Amino acid sequence: MSRLLLFDIDGTLIDSNGAGGAAILDAAEEHFGIHRDELPPLQLAGATDLAIAMDLFNLLKREHTRDAAFAFLDRYLANLHRRLHANDFSGFTLPGVNALLDALRVESEAHLGLLTGNVKRGAEIKLTRHGLFDHFIDGGFGSDHHDRNQLGPAALARMQQATGMHYNISDVIVIGDTPKDIRCAEAFGAKCLAVATGQYSAAELRALNPWRTVESFADVPATVELLLRT
Ligand SMILES: [Mg+2]
Repeated sequence: MSRLLLFDIDGTLIDSNGAGGAAILDAAEEHFGIHRDELPPLQLAGATDLAIAMDLFNLLKREHTRDAAFAFLDRYLANLHRRLHANDFSGFTLPGVNALLDALRVESEAHLGLLTGNVKRGAEIKLTRHGLFDHFIDGGFGSDHHDRNQLGPAALARMQQATGMHYNISDVIVIGDTPKDIRCAEAFGAKCLAVATGQYSAAELRALNPWRTVESFADVPATVELLLRT
Protein backbone atom coordinates (compact mmCIF):
# COMPACT_ATOMS: atom_id res chain seq x y z
CA MET A 1 0.00 0.00 0.00
CA SER A 2 1.45 3.37 -0.99
CA ARG A 3 2.00 6.04 1.63
CA LEU A 4 1.69 9.68 0.67
CA LEU A 5 4.19 11.73 2.67
CA LEU A 6 3.60 15.48 2.50
CA PHE A 7 6.50 17.53 3.84
CA ASP A 8 6.52 21.07 5.13
CA ILE A 9 9.74 22.97 4.27
CA ASP A 10 10.84 25.59 6.83
CA GLY A 11 11.76 24.12 10.21
CA THR A 12 11.05 20.63 8.87
CA LEU A 13 13.51 20.10 5.97
CA ILE A 14 15.62 23.24 6.13
CA ASP A 15 16.40 26.24 8.29
CA SER A 16 17.16 29.31 6.18
CA ASN A 17 18.56 31.01 9.31
CA GLY A 18 16.31 34.02 8.91
CA ALA A 19 16.83 34.55 5.16
CA GLY A 20 13.17 33.86 4.33
CA GLY A 21 11.86 36.33 6.92
CA ALA A 22 14.47 38.89 5.91
CA ALA A 23 13.36 38.60 2.27
CA ILE A 24 9.77 39.35 3.36
CA LEU A 25 11.01 42.51 5.08
CA ASP A 26 13.10 43.46 2.01
CA ALA A 27 9.97 43.15 -0.12
CA ALA A 28 7.92 45.19 2.36
CA GLU A 29 10.51 47.99 2.37
CA GLU A 30 10.51 48.07 -1.44
CA HIS A 31 6.76 47.70 -1.89
CA PHE A 32 5.51 50.08 0.81
CA GLY A 33 8.53 52.37 1.20
CA ILE A 34 8.59 51.75 4.96
CA HIS A 35 11.79 50.89 6.83
CA ARG A 36 11.83 47.34 8.28
CA ASP A 37 12.13 48.72 11.84
CA GLU A 38 8.83 50.58 11.35
CA LEU A 39 6.89 47.58 10.05
CA PRO A 40 4.37 45.80 12.31
CA PRO A 41 5.49 42.43 13.74
CA LEU A 42 4.56 39.50 11.52
CA GLN A 43 3.67 35.94 12.53
CA LEU A 44 5.65 33.85 10.05
CA ALA A 45 5.85 30.32 11.52
CA GLY A 46 3.55 27.99 9.61
CA ALA A 47 1.77 30.84 7.83
CA THR A 48 1.22 30.78 4.08
CA ASP A 49 3.06 33.39 2.02
CA LEU A 50 -0.29 34.72 0.80
CA ALA A 51 -1.55 35.07 4.40
CA ILE A 52 1.65 36.92 5.36
CA ALA A 53 1.18 39.30 2.42
CA MET A 54 -2.50 39.86 3.24
CA ASP A 55 -1.69 40.46 6.94
CA LEU A 56 0.88 43.04 5.97
CA PHE A 57 -1.52 44.85 3.64
CA ASN A 58 -4.19 44.83 6.38
CA LEU A 59 -1.85 46.00 9.15
CA LEU A 60 -0.68 48.86 6.93
CA LYS A 61 -4.30 49.60 5.97
CA ARG A 62 -3.58 49.16 2.28
CA GLU A 63 -6.15 47.76 -0.08
CA HIS A 64 -5.17 44.22 -0.98
CA THR A 65 -6.23 42.59 -4.17
CA ARG A 66 -4.93 39.21 -5.27
CA ASP A 67 -2.82 40.93 -7.95
CA ALA A 68 -1.28 43.30 -5.39
CA ALA A 69 -0.46 40.40 -3.06
CA PHE A 70 1.25 38.50 -5.87
CA ALA A 71 3.14 41.64 -6.97
CA PHE A 72 4.44 41.90 -3.40
CA LEU A 73 5.36 38.21 -3.42
CA ASP A 74 7.28 38.65 -6.69
CA ARG A 75 9.49 41.18 -4.88
CA TYR A 76 9.85 38.69 -2.03
CA LEU A 77 10.94 35.92 -4.43
CA ALA A 78 13.61 38.13 -6.03
CA ASN A 79 14.99 38.97 -2.58
CA LEU A 80 14.73 35.36 -1.43
CA HIS A 81 16.79 34.19 -4.39
CA ARG A 82 19.37 36.92 -3.80
CA ARG A 83 19.70 36.15 -0.08
CA LEU A 84 19.91 32.38 -0.56
CA HIS A 85 22.72 32.81 -3.08
CA ALA A 86 24.65 35.47 -1.13
CA ASN A 87 28.14 34.57 0.10
CA ASP A 88 27.07 34.95 3.72
CA PHE A 89 24.02 32.67 3.44
CA SER A 90 24.09 30.45 6.51
CA GLY A 91 21.01 28.28 6.07
CA PHE A 92 21.24 24.54 6.44
CA THR A 93 19.45 21.25 5.92
CA LEU A 94 18.07 19.92 9.22
CA PRO A 95 19.56 16.83 10.95
CA GLY A 96 18.89 13.54 9.19
CA VAL A 97 16.93 15.10 6.31
CA ASN A 98 19.34 14.21 3.50
CA ALA A 99 19.70 10.63 4.73
CA LEU A 100 15.95 10.31 5.33
CA LEU A 101 15.05 11.47 1.82
CA ASP A 102 17.69 9.15 0.33
CA ALA A 103 16.30 6.24 2.37
CA LEU A 104 12.71 7.01 1.30
CA ARG A 105 13.76 7.27 -2.36
CA VAL A 106 14.42 3.51 -2.52
CA GLU A 107 11.13 2.61 -0.82
CA SER A 108 8.67 2.10 -3.66
CA GLU A 109 5.64 2.57 -1.40
CA ALA A 110 6.77 6.07 -0.33
CA HIS A 111 5.42 8.89 -2.49
CA LEU A 112 6.94 12.22 -1.55
CA GLY A 113 5.16 15.55 -1.92
CA LEU A 114 5.14 19.00 -0.35
CA LEU A 115 2.56 20.71 1.85
CA THR A 116 3.93 24.13 2.55
CA GLY A 117 2.94 27.74 3.08
CA ASN A 118 5.61 28.75 0.58
CA VAL A 119 4.40 29.84 -2.84
CA LYS A 120 5.49 27.20 -5.36
CA ARG A 121 8.34 29.28 -6.77
CA GLY A 122 9.58 30.02 -3.22
CA ALA A 123 9.53 26.31 -2.37
CA GLU A 124 11.55 25.64 -5.52
CA ILE A 125 14.11 28.36 -4.71
CA LYS A 126 14.59 27.13 -1.13
CA LEU A 127 14.75 23.41 -1.90
CA THR A 128 16.93 23.78 -5.00
CA ARG A 129 19.43 25.80 -2.96
CA HIS A 130 19.74 22.82 -0.59
CA GLY A 131 19.72 20.17 -3.33
CA LEU A 132 16.36 18.75 -2.21
CA PHE A 133 13.82 19.87 -4.82
CA ASP A 134 14.08 16.79 -7.05
CA HIS A 135 12.93 14.48 -4.25
CA PHE A 136 9.37 15.78 -4.47
CA ILE A 137 6.76 14.97 -7.10
CA ASP A 138 4.35 17.89 -6.52
CA GLY A 139 2.27 19.25 -3.66
CA GLY A 140 0.12 21.99 -2.17
CA PHE A 141 1.60 25.47 -1.86
CA GLY A 142 0.99 28.88 -0.33
CA SER A 143 0.15 30.12 -3.81
CA ASP A 144 -2.93 27.84 -3.85
CA HIS A 145 -4.74 29.49 -0.93
CA HIS A 146 -4.02 31.89 1.94
CA ASP A 147 -5.58 29.43 4.44
CA ARG A 148 -3.17 26.60 5.17
CA ASN A 149 -6.10 24.32 6.06
CA GLN A 150 -7.13 24.42 2.39
CA LEU A 151 -3.75 23.17 1.15
CA GLY A 152 -4.13 19.49 2.08
CA PRO A 153 -6.85 18.74 -0.47
CA ALA A 154 -4.85 20.66 -3.11
CA ALA A 155 -1.74 18.59 -2.36
CA LEU A 156 -3.70 15.33 -2.39
CA ALA A 157 -5.35 16.12 -5.74
CA ARG A 158 -2.05 17.09 -7.39
CA MET A 159 -0.26 14.01 -6.10
CA GLN A 160 -3.07 11.72 -7.24
CA GLN A 161 -2.96 13.32 -10.66
CA ALA A 162 0.84 13.07 -10.85
CA THR A 163 1.11 9.44 -9.74
CA GLY A 164 -2.19 8.04 -10.99
CA MET A 165 -2.72 6.60 -7.50
CA HIS A 166 -5.67 6.91 -5.18
CA TYR A 167 -4.45 7.32 -1.61
CA ASN A 168 -6.52 6.24 1.38
CA ILE A 169 -6.59 9.16 3.76
CA SER A 170 -5.27 6.82 6.48
CA ASP A 171 -2.10 6.47 4.36
CA VAL A 172 -1.51 10.22 4.10
CA ILE A 173 0.99 11.73 6.55
CA VAL A 174 1.68 15.46 6.86
CA ILE A 175 5.14 16.15 8.28
CA GLY A 176 5.66 19.57 9.83
CA ASP A 177 7.04 21.62 12.69
CA THR A 178 4.23 23.96 13.80
CA PRO A 179 0.71 23.85 15.27
CA LYS A 180 -0.50 25.03 11.85
CA ASP A 181 0.84 21.82 10.25
CA ILE A 182 -1.04 19.74 12.84
CA ARG A 183 -4.31 21.62 12.20
CA CYS A 184 -3.82 21.48 8.44
CA ALA A 185 -3.48 17.67 8.61
CA GLU A 186 -6.60 17.41 10.82
CA ALA A 187 -8.52 19.60 8.37
CA PHE A 188 -8.46 16.89 5.68
CA GLY A 189 -8.30 13.82 7.93
CA ALA A 190 -4.59 13.04 7.43
CA LYS A 191 -2.11 11.97 10.11
CA CYS A 192 0.54 14.44 11.28
CA LEU A 193 4.11 13.62 12.21
CA ALA A 194 5.23 16.68 14.17
CA VAL A 195 8.97 17.37 14.34
CA ALA A 196 10.53 19.70 16.91
CA THR A 197 13.26 21.16 14.69
CA GLY A 198 11.48 24.49 14.24
CA GLN A 199 10.32 27.05 16.80
CA TYR A 200 8.17 24.66 18.82
CA SER A 201 9.36 22.08 21.36
CA ALA A 202 8.29 18.45 21.24
CA ALA A 203 6.23 19.02 24.41
CA GLU A 204 4.41 21.99 22.84
CA LEU A 205 3.64 20.01 19.70
CA ARG A 206 2.66 16.83 21.56
CA ALA A 207 0.13 18.85 23.60
CA LEU A 208 -1.81 19.40 20.35
CA ASN A 209 -2.25 15.64 19.83
CA PRO A 210 -0.62 15.01 16.47
CA TRP A 211 -0.41 11.33 15.38
CA ARG A 212 3.28 11.21 16.40
CA THR A 213 5.94 13.67 17.55
CA VAL A 214 9.72 13.33 17.15
CA GLU A 215 12.58 15.58 18.26
CA SER A 216 14.24 15.40 14.82
CA PHE A 217 14.90 13.02 11.90
CA ALA A 218 18.40 12.21 13.18
CA ASP A 219 17.39 8.56 13.73
CA VAL A 220 16.70 7.76 10.08
CA PRO A 221 15.77 4.05 10.39
CA ALA A 222 13.28 4.85 13.17
CA THR A 223 11.75 7.65 11.09
CA VAL A 224 11.41 5.40 8.00
CA GLU A 225 9.80 2.76 10.19
CA LEU A 226 7.36 5.32 11.59
CA LEU A 227 6.46 6.77 8.17
CA LEU A 228 6.07 3.53 6.25
CA ARG A 229 5.43 0.70 8.65
CA THR A 230 3.45 2.11 11.57
MG1 LIG B 1 7.44 24.94 8.96
